[in-house]
Formats: sequence, structure tokens, C-alpha cells
Amino acid sequence: MHITLENRSGGSCECCSLAPAQFAFTVSPKKEDPQHQVALCDNCFTDVEKLEKMDHWRCVEGSIWNPEPAVQALSYRIANQLKEKESWAQNLLDSVEIDEDVISWATSNQSKQLIHLDAFGNTLENGDTVVLTQALDVKGTSFSAPKGTVVKKIRLVHDNPEHIEGKINEQTIVILTKFVKKN
Ligand SMILES: [Zn+2]
Repeated sequence: MHITLENRSGGSCECCSLAPAQFAFTVSPKKEDPQHQVALCDNCFTDVEKLEKMDHWRCVEGSIWNPEPAVQALSYRIANQLKEKESWAQNLLDSVEIDEDVISWATSNQSKQLIHLDAFGNTLENGDTVVLTQALDVKGTSFSAPKGTVVKKIRLVHDNPEHIEGKINEQTIVILTKFVKKN
């Protein structure tokens, strides 16, 4: 554990404060850095992604008031994941005041998966076969793929719903979803 985190936590778990902090947990999707980490005890660390110990997690009712954004974000995330089963979690989310930035960080793990649609509004998935609905110039080559070219086993570009990748002429290229039709 980084010395910054050790000092900040005073050696106790920043979530439940019941036990010594033993692990640095990075609150995704931020990168590993003390300001994005929470010092957790063994108990919290092993359950923080499963959230099976329902009663234990009431500790976020306290930790959510921690001045550290990382601790707020993790506490908010935990309460947010439990709110449907546990009324205390919903009450906590309703009563706490947290910066929008921290809330987006906390809920970023739940943002919906982007949906890739073809030219006709069909949902595309990894491994699908598509047909080009118009000729496509393959950048950096003199090769042009004619309309009707079949592209097998496409991959969705996860952060851009308008892009897929596929192999044409042994070359993996990015193809715009609006120029393909699911086969
Ligand atoms: Zn703990």
C-alpha cells in the first residue's frame, strides 16, 4: 500500500474502520493511484465486488461522509448496488450530498453497454457476419471492397457504437456500422 494511503487511512479500513487496512482498492475505471484508491481491510476487500455480506456494508453509511472522493465514490457505488434490496441504501443515497463528478465516477460501472446497430437498425454482436451496403475504400491500400462483400466474425468497438472491426482481404479494418447489413 502506498505511504500516502497509509497515512490518510491512519491504518484503519476506510470503509468499515473496524479492522486494519491491508489492501489498496482502486475504484474503477480510474487508474492505480492513491487518490483513486481506498484502503480496505481483509473483510471489505474480499467482498467489495460481490457484496454478499449485506449487513457488513451498512458501514458505507459512515464512510460515504469521508472527505476523500475515492472513499465517497466507493461508498456511493456500494449503496447504489444494494438499493433495490436494502432500504437503508436507498435512504442513504437520498440523504447524502455528493459532487456530480463523484456520482458519475461511482455509477460509471453501471453505464449501459453501447449498442451497435447496422444500417437497418438490427443489433450487431461480436462474431456476427455482415454485408457491406456500399463500396468501401480500405485506407492505406489500393484495395476497395465492393458492395456486397461479406465480412465474417466482426468485433464491436466497445467505446464507439458506430464502429466495428472486420477482416477484409486479410486485413483488419474499422467499418462504419451505417454501411453494413447484418447477414
Ligand atoms: Zn473494512
